[in-house]
Amino acid sequence: MRAMVCERQAKASTAPLVLLDLDDPEPGPGEVRIGVRACGVCRTDLHVVEGDLPLRSKPAIPGHQVVGLVDAVGEGTDPSWIGKRVGAAWLLETCGTCRFCGEGRENLCRKAEFLGWTRPGGFAERVCAPADFVYELPEGFPDLQAAPLLCAGIIGYRALSFCVDAQEEWEGLRLGLVGFGAAAHVAIQVAGARGARVTVFTRQVETRREAALALGAVEVGELSPNNRPEGPGDLDAVVVFAPSGAVVPPSLDRLAPGGRLVLAGIHMTDTPPLPYRLLYDERRIQSVRNNTREDGRAFLAEAARIPVETRVEVFPLEAANEALARLAEGSIQGAAVLRIG
Ligand SMILES: [Zn+2]
Ligand SMILES: [Zn+2]
Repeated sequence: MRAMVCERQAKASTAPLVLLDLDDPEPGPGEVRIGVRACGVCRTDLHVVEGDLPLRSKPAIPGHQVVGLVDAVGEGTDPSWIGKRVGAAWLLETCGTCRFCGEGRENLCRKAEFLGWTRPGGFAERVCAPADFVYELPEGFPDLQAAPLLCAGIIGYRALSFCVDAQEEWEGLRLGLVGFGAAAHVAIQVAGARGARVTVFTRQVETRREAALALGAVEVGELSPNNRPEGPGDLDAVVVFAPSGAVVPPSLDRLAPGGRLVLAGIHMTDTPPLPYRLLYDERRIQSVRNNTREDGRAFLAEAARIPVETRVEVFPLEAANEALARLAEGSIQGAAVLRIG
């Protein structure tokens, strides 16, 4: 199979991924093998390729938003999986026995495996995944449009879940989204459908305004040079998608008393000192670590009901370096997706 492999970590602009012809992977016990048709490109792939996260699989193939057809099953896997269209996402396997797995918080499992990081991912023509961890995808989404749902969508969904204590609070919730990339362009639609009044904050107001308004923003605001989401009035919740810790204190400062600040990134630069007065009004800060399978299933069902529209910029597999470089420079509109097979 053809795969884009990371043999050295370096800036995406130097094209560190190389196209190799590898043996097809064989599915292990309980696994399915997926003939990949599309794979989303996520900021986490950039962190793996550029060295913010260590390389942990061999071959090191990024990609954790896989859409494809099951073409083989391993020992003990139900053969009726063959031919099904499935999605595979970042959380690839958990131990199933630890305290977190037992409490329905498998996203915190310390022995978890991750697609495109600890195991070879979907920037390839074939990928293996445990059958218990793949998702059946709603029909309304073509392959390329379905791919960004699998990380950008699911992680955004989990981030939103921390913005309120009860579903009733969504109606009229004043929500700010900091950064308007792949995850935010899906989350805004989910929040809007639930009744939130969403303001998008970005440094790229000119290029992002039109899309943000079309997808439901009531307003698009500047992220000022000192990282402050600019605008009048308090916000009830802010979700930060930008990987910049510098936005944390000024975002807290925009919150009403009791407001929530949710940090959605897997990797973020350090936060500057936090003045206690910003926390004192019972404001809460919450990070998001991975997702549970329940998050994935619930999100896919809600995305199909709304229905969510994903905007994608499509690249061939061999242009994965270009897709990552464009993501790094912030010039992707919506989500980048590789067309494969
Ligand atoms: Zn566990
Ligand atoms: Zn991701």
